[in-house]
Amino acid sequence: MFIGHYGPAFAAPALVRSVPLWAAFLSVQFIDVVWSILILAGIEQVRIVPGFTQMSPLDLYHMPWSHSLPGALVLSVVAGSLYWLFARTDRVAGALLIAALCFSHWLGDLIVHVPDLALWPGGPMVGFGLWNNLPAALALEAGLVLAGLIVYLRVTRAKGLAGRIAPYALAGFLLALEAIHLTGEPPASAQEMAVISLAAFLVLAGLAAIADRTREARA
Ligand SMILES: [Zn+2]
Repeated sequence: MFIGHYGPAFAAPALVRSVPLWAAFLSVQFIDVVWSILILAGIEQVRIVPGFTQMSPLDLYHMPWSHSLPGALVLSVVAGSLYWLFARTDRVAGALLIAALCFSHWLGDLIVHVPDLALWPGGPMVGFGLWNNLPAALALEAGLVLAGLIVYLRVTRAKGLAGRIAPYALAGFLLALEAIHLTGEPPASAQEMAVISLAAFLVLAGLAAIADRTREARA
């Protein structure tokens, strides 16, 4: 899953108001942040195969650590613990939410990936393969972003003009990224893919931080 992961992140302030949007944006991709680093380190592997699925050219044939079920659970605990360590308010509720957001990544991937998610390292592979149904996969990815945006707009309000525009700009940027991903050339190598992914995760978290500053919680 690509942009659909950000749907739950947008909705995070509805559950724990003190969780910053950038932390939610980073935690839903924490598993892929680790994946990108493991790809660059040569510990996990991916092949770029144009047409591998209708939606994605990635043959994710070896990612036993970042994307196995126990791996995802461990990373979720790590993400939650990091939040608990650094947060100043609502530390336990925030940490639980961050861990849940992190794990939502695995559930999103489970729906769209072909069976490449191990139930345990070396165990059976799962994945419902929605990426082979382009209209349905696109509807799910965009639908999750829009649903999350609606929740975010309901629980926060604009501080000024910028706050009225920023959430739509952020969601629009996500949709634009999806369009570029679908129509653009696939990355030349696994390493290039990992670097682009890491950059995108950081830029999106930064944009979320900027957008979130223009809004405040509704009373
Ligand atoms: Zn993933």
